[in-house]
Amino acid sequence: PDSRTPASQTVEIDGRRVKLTNLDKVLYPETGFTKGEVLSYYARVAPVMLPHLAGRAATLIRHPDGVDEPGFFAKHAPSHRPDWVRTASVAATGSGKHIEHVLIDDLPSLIWAANLAAIEFHVPQWRVADPEHHDLLVLDLDPGPPATVLDCVRVAFAARELLATHGMDLRAKTSGGKGLHLYAPLDGVTAEQARELAHTIALGMEAQLPDLVVSNMAKRERPGKVFMDWSQNTHSKTTVAAYSLRARPRPTVSTPVTWEQLAAAERPDDLRFSPTRALEQVAEHGDLLSGL
Ligand code: ATP
Ligand code: MN
Ligand code: MN
Repeated sequence: PDSRTPASQTVEIDGRRVKLTNLDKVLYPETGFTKGEVLSYYARVAPVMLPHLAGRAATLIRHPDGVDEPGFFAKHAPSHRPDWVRTASVAATGSGKHIEHVLIDDLPSLIWAANLAAIEFHVPQWRVADPEHHDLLVLDLDPGPPATVLDCVRVAFAARELLATHGMDLRAKTSGGKGLHLYAPLDGVTAEQARELAHTIALGMEAQLPDLVVSNMAKRERPGKVFMDWSQNTHSKTTVAAYSLRARPRPTVSTPVTWEQLAAAERPDDLRFSPTRALEQVAEHGDLLSGL
């Protein structure tokens, strides 16, 4: 947006009327990145991002006052929402209660949510069409300082090799935070089986690379080691969606990367993607997680 762009306007997107507000509000004070720029980023990345959100119960992290102010996890769909925003009722683990989540299935819904200052979009490893089965295995690699994302890269290559011997295709994305997320497609696997598989992989990685990998939650903060968090593979756990912005001091994006890019990374910044760089990545490679 520039000086000619009104701060608020109603736009029509694919036949839906979406009210956009406070477009000139700065959401990332460190860089001056505005809400208008957040919306613009999501509009541009939507073609590759929407397939990863569609059909999954979304949890939004909203920062109406910018990333320097506390945000909040929004699991419940906002009660004031357009009637065309789809929702799904999801059983909350243990409590017997249900939570009405939004489904970000199309561009109007994505832009509507982003206009609520939903900076981050998180989704579970299963689809509302089949809540009993996980269609994604996720390995969340968390570096314990002074370990960095470059140490996560070493773990990622070892995991890729292990999974390849079982015919599994592993893909990687940056988290947009400190580490990496690795994904493999699953078919007909329960949450319990997915968790067991991930645990087995983490134990295998730890046995193979004991100086580098920790699989034990209680030792996750081990300095210089990478915690492979296999426990993300449960019904109630989410992972930040591919192409989501992160609510960090600077706008960074959880961005799918090639194995060549991982191998070539020399500094952690080589694996840091601004919104502009994430869009360039998509222009060059398309969606590196397509088909997952
Ligand atoms: P980093 O690379 O910095 O670890 P991350 O997104 O992987 O970034 P984690 O803390 O490892 O962050 O968490 C993994 C995932 O678990 C997140 O992407 C998020 O979806 C979910 N998660 C983490 N903390 C919470 C929380 N407090 N409430 C709900 N979900 C959470
Ligand atoms: Mn983690
Ligand atoms: Mn992580």
